[in-house]
Amino acid sequence: GQVDVECEMMVLGAGPGGYSAAFRAADLGMNTVLVEKYATLGGVCLNVGCIPSKALLHVAAIIDETAHMGDHGVSFAKPDIDIDKLRAYKDGVIKKMTGGLAGMAKARKVNVVQGVGKFLSPNHIEVTGADGAKKVVAFQKAIIAAGSSVVNLPFVPEDPRIVDSTGALELRQVPKRMLVIGGGIIGLEMATVYSTLGARIDVVEMMDGLMQGADREAVKVWQKYNAARFDNIMLKTKTVGVEALPEGIKVTFESAEAGKPAPEPQTYDLVLVAVGRSPNGKKIGAEAAGVAVTDRGFIGVDGQMRTNVPHIFAIGDLVGQPMLAHKAVHEAHVAAEAAHGEKAFFDAKVIPSVAYTDPEVAWVGLTEEEAKAKGVKVEKGHFPWAASGRAVANGREEGFTKLLFDAETHRIIGGTIVGTNAGDMIGEVALAIEMGADGVDIGKTIHPHPTLGESIGMAAEAYEGVCTDLP
Ligand code: FAD
Repeated sequence: GQVDVECEMMVLGAGPGGYSAAFRAADLGMNTVLVEKYATLGGVCLNVGCIPSKALLHVAAIIDETAHMGDHGVSFAKPDIDIDKLRAYKDGVIKKMTGGLAGMAKARKVNVVQGVGKFLSPNHIEVTGADGAKKVVAFQKAIIAAGSSVVNLPFVPEDPRIVDSTGALELRQVPKRMLVIGGGIIGLEMATVYSTLGARIDVVEMMDGLMQGADREAVKVWQKYNAARFDNIMLKTKTVGVEALPEGIKVTFESAEAGKPAPEPQTYDLVLVAVGRSPNGKKIGAEAAGVAVTDRGFIGVDGQMRTNVPHIFAIGDLVGQPMLAHKAVHEAHVAAEAAHGEKAFFDAKVIPSVAYTDPEVAWVGLTEEEAKAKGVKVEKGHFPWAASGRAVANGREEGFTKLLFDAETHRIIGGTIVGTNAGDMIGEVALAIEMGADGVDIGKTIHPHPTLGESIGMAAEAYEGVCTDLP
């Protein structure tokens, strides 16, 4: 058949995984094509994920902080919110970042081919542009980085008052009453933004707690600090019906526990469905390339991010949990280097997670709950922020820093931080775990005073105090 473009490396999808892979491949000297259906680079993360949500959370955090300033003797007027300008600010942030990526692609001579890609063979992909025009790209090697899409609930009708995370980030209106279906990180970040802008929020979650995967003690701190944000947090509750009525969106619930009564049906002005994301593996014609895809749409890979087809690699949300941008970027570098013939392996001990709520909740490695479930004996160092001069000076002493150490080796194997800026601090704990640091290494590292980061050193010193058999 006809071939329009030939290249050594074809990367499918331009999210954090795809653009990082394409840039690394180009830097290694490979003639690289990057196929992306959207007009801008950056994927979910830059366009409708990490970055726009953080732009809005930044504004929300400042609104909330000024509201608290009254306690310190400084009062501001009630904020006057121009939602169009706020939306424009968020859009401007996205534009700056995606524009920067376009410049970087150009500088590296990465050939961006815009359109929907579908494999034709193990060495060909067809790209259909927005105008319907088709191009065939022939490649020697490929990295699949097609990402994930939001999961919809089958019984939810189409209505402008029912949104997913992408719709919520569009910030079309601030509702009076809002329901967030799904108490995970994405749902709670959006709940933070909308409640600060004036919405009253309910959250419904099937599991027995919010922010699954996070340390329960940290979630408790977050929930206590945020109690005023929510009218009702319905745990162990299923959403079973969503009806679009003229007066609002009527939602019915069922208890997930047998024999427990269900909460009363409620009517909302806005419903956010944030029940997870599913991989795009089944939407790219992978079978034509011979690439195996699981029933759920994931693509299996080895330690070099190689699929069952030796010259085709896969990375990012598409290859499994955790679906996080920083994981995709590191996998991307491994895939590009391995494709180039280097002995690169994805060998991360840990991948940090952060909820950019207020306060932030950040964790890495094992949590206490996971350690218990796995039968790993741990000892902990716990530092309450009420004893941190900086946290107290900031008027934000609700947080804590907790480090978990292997009871036998005394090496750090996990950490949780809840408090302002926790996400910026958790990288140090990740580094300590990767380096095999023990309590002494961390406790004797001089941290600047007074900082919130100092709490990591303090938590390690607290551990050394209880752990008397250290050398
Ligand atoms: P994606 O970013 O999903 O990119 C895949 C790209 O492939 C897309 O651009 C898509 O258009 C393109 N594509 C797919 N199929 C085709 C095709 N057939 N042809 C052409 N192009 C195609 N992660 C964090 O680490 N931190 C956060 O703070 C964070 N916040 C988030 C907030 C929200 C609201 C959401 C939804 C997600 C958030 N995430 C966050 C998750 C993060 O966005 C993803 O983990 C990350 O984007 C995954 O990168 P990826 O490269 O695997 O795929």
